Amino acid sequence: MLPDHSRVRFRRLDGDERMYTAKKEITFCYGHRLLRYSGKCKNLHGHNAKAEIELQRETLDHRDMVIDFDDIKNEVKSWIDTQLDHRMLLCKDDPFVPLLQEKGELCYILDTNPTAEAIARLIYDYAASKGFPVSEVRVWETETSMASYRR
Ligand SMILES: [Zn+2]
Repeated sequence: MLPDHSRVRFRRLDGDERMYTAKKEITFCYGHRLLRYSGKCKNLHGHNAKAEIELQRETLDHRDMVIDFDDIKNEVKSWIDTQLDHRMLLCKDDPFVPLLQEKGELCYILDTNPTAEAIARLIYDYAASKGFPVSEVRVWETETSMASYRR
């Protein structure tokens, strides 16, 4: 006979799983290439990307909001616009880094390969560091390819 977990499950549904969600979409363009990779993304190229920033709270704030969309726009979109948009996103080990920087190209250097997964984590960490109740960031590298990061 199976153990009876129904009461536990019922309690979790009543308590932990009720959540308000808000989502902001931010579009940006970036160039990159991947190291230690044999597909098309090993060559320098660019993407028109979309980041989805999902925010969650169990209770609403004093304005009855999860978040004011203007706050995300002013803080996170501004950071993306100045740090990632129309820049080359490259791994610190990429031999192109010193060449491009010497020529004055705007680069954002990552410790890892500049994959959609890494960019999702970058945006997640920035939003979280600014106190936003971010639950997940998804980065759509193309209209059909998405990677996400959540905690
Ligand atoms: Zn790519």
